[in-house]
Amino acid sequence: MNNRFDLPRFPTLFISHGSPMHAIEGGAAGEAWEALAQRIGKPHAILIASAHWETPVPMLTGSATPDTIHDFGGFPDALYRIQYRAPGAPALAERIKNLLRDVDARTSIEPQRGLDHGAWSPLLHMYPDADIPVLQLSVQPERGARHHFAMGKALEVLREEGVLIIGSGHMTHNLRDAFSQHPAQDIAQYATAFRNWVDERVQAGHADELIDWNTRAPSALRAHPSPEHFLPLFVALGAAGTPWKTETVFSGFLGAALAMDSYRFD
Ligand code: ZN
Repeated sequence: MNNRFDLPRFPTLFISHGSPMHAIEGGAAGEAWEALAQRIGKPHAILIASAHWETPVPMLTGSATPDTIHDFGGFPDALYRIQYRAPGAPALAERIKNLLRDVDARTSIEPQRGLDHGAWSPLLHMYPDADIPVLQLSVQPERGARHHFAMGKALEVLREEGVLIIGSGHMTHNLRDAFSQHPAQDIAQYATAFRNWVDERVQAGHADELIDWNTRAPSALRAHPSPEHFLPLFVALGAAGTPWKTETVFSGFLGAALAMDSYRFD
């Protein structure tokens, strides 16, 4: 990075990325992501912990020219034609690998992997020119919130170096409920209760209670039958530093079951 003294300290973000279709029809969420990026300005690089890359140990994308991965099935052709040609950041990947050494010494770099839709779908709205280097960090579903919070903490220093850190997942993510025949109201009730529990603690800065979300939050295991879409929140919170200041970027539901809250932390 050139003159770090001229750089603002970048915020960290949690984005509920919605359906892959949000890449094409962003709606109100897409507009909120776009406006957010305009307020933040252009970082030197973007690091995204995406729910759509699960590995046992932390991995970073190391490609200088990452492909656009279409990691979904059954969507319109237009979605498969999307290319988000942002460059990678191999040198930054090496630096991040070193920063994460104390969290997991086995952290490694994947030289081939491209960007998945957890990264490029929101970025298409935020930084449509695709001219900012992007790299991804994988999530470790078996290792819980505390591990992801620790990874975020280890990455906090990057915010002074022009790096925008994003956790890309979902506030609630039960796809069976999202496509079920249950009365919509029944679903909305538990998803709203979970969302409200999390939101209160995110707004108040209660990291410890949030880290124990799977035993303390109402309907936690129904809101997230598997944790990969919730864990990116903890990367964003860990990198936010304490106490953090929360701004709600977007709040709403996709259907009755998928809460789409997004936050900015400073
Ligand atoms: Zn997803």
